[in-house]
Amino acid sequence: MTRRKFTSKFKTKVVLEALKEGRYVGSPPKGYSVGRDSSKKPILQPNHEAHFIQEAYEMYSEGVYNQREIIKHLAKKGFKTSKTVFAKIIRNPLYYGKVFIKAHKEEPEQLVEGIHEPLISEQLFNKVQAILNKGKGAKNTNYKRLNPNFPLRGFINCPKCQKTLTASTSRSRKNYYSYYHCISPCDTRISAEDAHAWFNSFLKSISLDNNSYTLLLEIIKEEFKKIDATNPLGPKHYEKLTGLKDKLTRIQDLFIDGELSKEEYQQAKKRCQVLIEELEEKEIKLGKKKEIFDTFKKGLTKIQTIEKQYSTGSLDQKIKLVGSIFPQKFEFENKKIRTADLNPILLKISSIHGGLQRSKRKGQTKKNDLSSMVTAKGFEPPTLRAEI
Ligand SMILES: [Zn+2]
Repeated sequence: MTRRKFTSKFKTKVVLEALKEGRYVGSPPKGYSVGRDSSKKPILQPNHEAHFIQEAYEMYSEGVYNQREIIKHLAKKGFKTSKTVFAKIIRNPLYYGKVFIKAHKEEPEQLVEGIHEPLISEQLFNKVQAILNKGKGAKNTNYKRLNPNFPLRGFINCPKCQKTLTASTSRSRKNYYSYYHCISPCDTRISAEDAHAWFNSFLKSISLDNNSYTLLLEIIKEEFKKIDATNPLGPKHYEKLTGLKDKLTRIQDLFIDGELSKEEYQQAKKRCQVLIEELEEKEIKLGKKKEIFDTFKKGLTKIQTIEKQYSTGSLDQKIKLVGSIFPQKFEFENKKIRTADLNPILLKISSIHGGLQRSKRKGQTKKNDLSSMVTAKGFEPPTLRAEI
């Protein structure tokens, strides 16, 4: 064995042993310097940049800022790092006190408890890893959407150029201003406060109080009854259907026994089948109608409390809710959500609700007028997304 080979082998062994004891011996990552412990052995010690590492982890764990934004933010404060280095920083388990050992010969890779002082908690580290993993394949905008100050980001269209508005917070001497805005050269800008107030009043317009809810439900039920009355599926329907099916069997028997010619048989069979199909179609239609009614009832119950759901929901729930109301984006027009962007069923509910409020003020319940606003056509399933 040459001397060189011997040294490198020896080194590997020493390094491995040190690592297994939790003593990191490589070049120190940012935030640490190499010091000496009481036995004069090398040990990682937090340096003057340690607090930047902590800040980086904390910022990233909020799920609001992307890596580029954090790098920029920290650079302003004097922490210089590159994209590549930063990507390594937020994935390095050393910072929460662990030492990573690569797989070596028969031994698999391992993570051992380090003897150095951690800069962050394991919990914080895991939170950051979860965001990193979630962000895989996702676009930057997903982070942006997650800012709790801007639950409507990504949903508002610019009324001038139809681009999707983004959102920012700027600072004057004393105050912060948050607003939704378009991208240069377009100068559309809506204060977040206004946008949120307009949005809330929209939610209010579709949130139903108990009376409106009951009345609306009643109206819908009546509408469905009306359709039933023109298309009854009573016991007679089923008698007819059974009769026709029996007849079909008899025709087949007659044909087999040679009492009917092939032509006669086919004609008779077709007549029967057409009638059976007609009756069965009626059943399918009724089934669908019941489905629509069920969907509608579910939707109505959800809409009943929509304002509260939104105001008390988490950011994630808010975004889901807005997304279910507006599968497409919406625009503000005269401080209101443009009605053209509304899901037709919501438009209907909001107009019925408005009608109810007006007649309530007049002290009369114009159920018939309201009922005419509701038609079965208005509640066709495609207009009602199940999530609402
Ligand atoms: Zn614009």
